[in-house]
Amino acid sequence: MPDPEQMDLDAFGGNKAQQAATVARRKGKSPKTTIIYEPRGRAGEYAALAANLYTGCDHGCGYCWGPRLLHLTKEEFMRARPRSEDIIEKFRRECEILSKAGEKRSILLMFTSDPYCCADLKHKLTRQAIEILNEYNLHFTILSKGGMRVRRDYDLIRQAGERATVATKIGRAHV
Ligand code: SF4
Repeated sequence: MPDPEQMDLDAFGGNKAQQAATVARRKGKSPKTTIIYEPRGRAGEYAALAANLYTGCDHGCGYCWGPRLLHLTKEEFMRARPRSEDIIEKFRRECEILSKAGEKRSILLMFTSDPYCCADLKHKLTRQAIEILNEYNLHFTILSKGGMRVRRDYDLIRQAGERATVATKIGRAHV
């Protein structure tokens, strides 16, 4: 399909929700979501949309800017935990909103954490998130230093096909 941003809405021919989303994007206003957000400034060069399901990350990279960004000490940041008890429910609601609005941009998992951090071994929020993204036919990008842990979600990533982009750093696995 041609890029709807380059076309008149009538020529795009999408449904009303898609047209509304296109108008909103042209005006710089996306549907209101908070868990799935548009990274600002230079961060926006890395991802149009992102979602952080964990607070912190326990990979412990020396150069990590996460603690500074979240105003946490390095020790606090290292105690990676789900962002809230209902983070998956919130994520699902926002995926539904974006799906209805015809969102086609890729959602980065995750910006201020790692989708396959050690905490994910216990909580498995990343797998739940991919299931939801597939359910709502949304595009997503996984960037991880979790090594081969991504293997356990290959079945879901295969289902996503071209909607999924995955890059992992092999060699830091603690599966
Ligand atoms: S994997 Fe990313 S978020 Fe986690 S500590 Fe390393 S740089 Fe920070």
